[in-house]
Amino acid sequence: MESIRPDVVIIGSGVGGGAVAHRLAGSGARILILERGDFLPNEPQNADAEAVFVQARYKTREEYQDETGRRYRPGQYYYVGGHTKFYGTAMFRFREGDFRETAHEGGISPAWPISYADLAGHYDEAERLFGVRGEAGQDPTEPPRAAPYAHAAIPHEPVLARMAEALRGQGLRPFHMPSAVDFGPGGNCRRCGTCDAFICRHDAKGDAETRLIRPLLRHPDVTLWTGAQVTRLIAGADGRISAAEVLRNGQTLRVEAPLFVLSAGAINSALILLRSADDAHPQGLANRSGVVGRYLMNHHLTGLMGLMPLGVNDTKFPKTLAVNDFYHGLPDDPAARGNVQMLGKIQGPMIRAAYPRVPAPLANLLGRHSVDWLCMSEDLPDPESRVRALPGGGVEIAYRPGDRPAHERFVAHIRARLRRIFPMVLRHDFGIEAPSHQCGTVRMGADPATSALDGMCRAHDHANLYVVDAGFFPSSAALNPALTVCAQALRVGTHLRAAWRDDRLAA
Ligand SMILES: Cc1cc2nc3c(=O)[nH]c(=O)nc-3n(C[C@H](O)[C@H](O)[C@H](O)COP(=O)(O)OP(=O)(O)OC[C@H]3O[C@@H](n4cnc5c(N)ncnc54)[C@H](O)[C@@H]3O)c2cc1C
Repeated sequence: MESIRPDVVIIGSGVGGGAVAHRLAGSGARILILERGDFLPNEPQNADAEAVFVQARYKTREEYQDETGRRYRPGQYYYVGGHTKFYGTAMFRFREGDFRETAHEGGISPAWPISYADLAGHYDEAERLFGVRGEAGQDPTEPPRAAPYAHAAIPHEPVLARMAEALRGQGLRPFHMPSAVDFGPGGNCRRCGTCDAFICRHDAKGDAETRLIRPLLRHPDVTLWTGAQVTRLIAGADGRISAAEVLRNGQTLRVEAPLFVLSAGAINSALILLRSADDAHPQGLANRSGVVGRYLMNHHLTGLMGLMPLGVNDTKFPKTLAVNDFYHGLPDDPAARGNVQMLGKIQGPMIRAAYPRVPAPLANLLGRHSVDWLCMSEDLPDPESRVRALPGGGVEIAYRPGDRPAHERFVAHIRARLRRIFPMVLRHDFGIEAPSHQCGTVRMGADPATSALDGMCRAHDHANLYVVDAGFFPSSAALNPALTVCAQALRVGTHLRAAWRDDRLAA
């Protein structure tokens, strides 16, 4: 075993764990990052839709089951950089109202214990770190920001420019979507045509590996162990976390440290805490409230393919366009609400992966002639929407999407608008089998009776444990989560940098 006495153990090298490590590096703290996955190989299959979707080359081999016992291979990816290695680079700030309690048709979207103002400066830093490109002032719901984006928005390709024009013709205010791609003169982006859900072979995607982890590894105080799967945390008699149990190279190791930052993704962090149950914590660690593993959210995500029978969509990078005119509701139906943004370009193999009976020539034809949209609505937290650690190592996901009827009406409205542009609009719903926007399972809140973490993501029950992946979200908003994970993790990292040595951590 490598000999190491870390001051801080960070579990998971995704955007949450990476951002905390970024803020702590150089503080004098010796940081050990434990990552169950490895570095993704740079290989032709990275950008091959057949390999990525049909053969599911990069997806975990583990299986989850639903409440009926149906087993499936979830869309979980375990690599250095976490899910951002595959993400679509849409880097939105949540809106000010997303942090406040809001009544929805299907229930309440709870208040966060922090406000937009608490995160604003950290959003600035997160955008700089990830090289986000955008144009301030275009998005009608944009929250206040101190300065314009550091990098100009990625221009629309011709088909997308026509879409923006058509939407403006309908009285909408489409805008350039904020995106973390190193595009433009001197940039790495080659507009290769594979980005969202693929791995970038040219380091052009601003992801947690390229932007956080790789630069950190040049730092003498930062060590990364790959292939290091944390199986449980161990609490001492004083309630503090004393060690992590780690499976590495077939051996079980025990890593001790004064401070632990858990960031294994919303589902896996909940599983680690639940599997760490002991006599003093029979419901699992950080779980006196019983909320760990509950309130799983994933967004209502519906894809719409507008078909242009007479035109080919040759767009390489479509994620330049979004619409937020209905973020706070349709004019005549305020409960039906959400964000609309472009999906990555759909290709034939992606259609066949979801609908294996569609013949390849038809799937390819649809891919060539479609313009692909994503409707995203807020998912509401439900205590019965759960991740369960089953005896013997199994995982059950009992997902209860909240506020579905309102999402259906939102999608119907958007589809009707697209029907004014396209003769035919096909629909596909993304389910929990692909938990791409998973969040909420280790929620933060002001009240220890109803939350696991305080507003600084510190466990109410364990003074030296923080959880900084999307599990901390009390609500999901209706925008992509990664920038908010990053901003809050930078906030937590800033706090820890000031506090890691002093008594506050020992309190
Ligand atoms: C196809 C796709 C497209 C997406 N597009 C967007 C987008 O455009 N914009 C956006 O904002 N978001 C997008 N997302 C979501 C976004 O990627 C995630 O919200 C974000 O990456 C979550 O970060 P995280 O730090 O919470 O967790 P993760 O990224 O899941 O990181 C957790 C890390 O912990 C590791 N780990 C897990 N278990 C253990 C263990 N037991 N021991 C040690 N390590 C462990 C994992 O391997 C991983 O590296 C997308 C996701 C997918 C899958």
